[in-house]
Amino acid sequence: HKEIQLANRPEGMPTNDDFNFVEKEIPIPAENEVLLKTLYLSVDPYMRGRMRDVKSYIPPFELNQALTGGLLAEVVESRSDLFEKGDIVSSNLSWAEYNVANASKLQKIDPTAASITAHLSVLGLTGLTAYFGLLDIANPQAGETVVVSGAAGAVGSIVGQIAKIKGTRVVGIAGSDDKIDYLINELGFDAAVNYKKDSFKEDLINALPDGVDVYFDNVGGDISDAVIRQLNKHARISLCGAISSYNNEEGDLGPRMQGQFIRTSTMMKGFTLGDYAKELPAGVAALTQWLQEGKLKYDETIVEGFENTPEAFLGLFKGTNLGKQLVKVADP
Ligand code: NDP
Repeated sequence: HKEIQLANRPEGMPTNDDFNFVEKEIPIPAENEVLLKTLYLSVDPYMRGRMRDVKSYIPPFELNQALTGGLLAEVVESRSDLFEKGDIVSSNLSWAEYNVANASKLQKIDPTAASITAHLSVLGLTGLTAYFGLLDIANPQAGETVVVSGAAGAVGSIVGQIAKIKGTRVVGIAGSDDKIDYLINELGFDAAVNYKKDSFKEDLINALPDGVDVYFDNVGGDISDAVIRQLNKHARISLCGAISSYNNEEGDLGPRMQGQFIRTSTMMKGFTLGDYAKELPAGVAALTQWLQEGKLKYDETIVEGFENTPEAFLGLFKGTNLGKQLVKVADP
């Protein structure tokens, strides 16, 4: 079987050459361990940060070692009483076709509750990030205006829909006309604006007749500056991600404009999902209920084949995904 290792620390936009496919023996499980066949891998923007050799909230990836990330796998051999052959589990493990893991690192998935891939998207890291980042930090109130950037992605698409459930007016920002059409006509956003158009700043102002009460920021940089210019008094900003800076070797691109925060008494707060570790089951329960009530839709862009994992990851920075980007490695 193969695993994917980090071959170089990329500068700027990563390329296929930064990844190495390395042939390995299929590992043998010890007592309390299971052998897992990877079914689906999650590729995520935060992984770009882990490719740099800098201190952060999670340690950097090591050169010439397998990258790791969220995945769904099938138990093919078990030496634990907790799991049996055929169980589907989720965990954070190596980008490899097979993994051996201690049973304590694995969460069993109920394949009847939702599609199994939902546990890597709407019921996984990205759905929960949307849920806590929006509701706990920004506390949107009915009638307010909520803006979300990266709106057609995994986190953003769920943020906008939760904001609609809360009775707000929702405006999305995304990078293609197809995505704008999707946000308005499929997800029920009130308005959406394409940031790649020359008319972006004007279009955004036109979409915000009542200003901005809540901004859920996935991207940072110029897009955020344009939103920050429209903040209302006592606005709240949930700082989730800054993907526009992730491949920028000069570093951070903002948000800037402190004067605007001061004048409007805006509160801006960053977070990682780890802040909510104890509350995750409540988030999963709320998201599951909305799914079952038909109030929440989720889309996934699934690339087929383990060998296409780097391509799927790079696509996040080109905007080739709608909803959550996943890689299908094998059938259950
Ligand atoms: P997405 O599914 O949103 O994929 C990334 C999207 O970002 C692309 O589809 C693309 O859409 C957009 N994008 C790429 N480059 C740029 C750019 N230069 N400027 C503006 N938009 C760009 O990814 P996720 O939903 O997984 O993550 C969204 C954000 O949330 C990321 O910043 C991520 O780091 C962050 N995050 C934070 C977490 C936390 O705990 N704080 C947890 C999970 C994610 P488009 O076509 O619109 O350009």
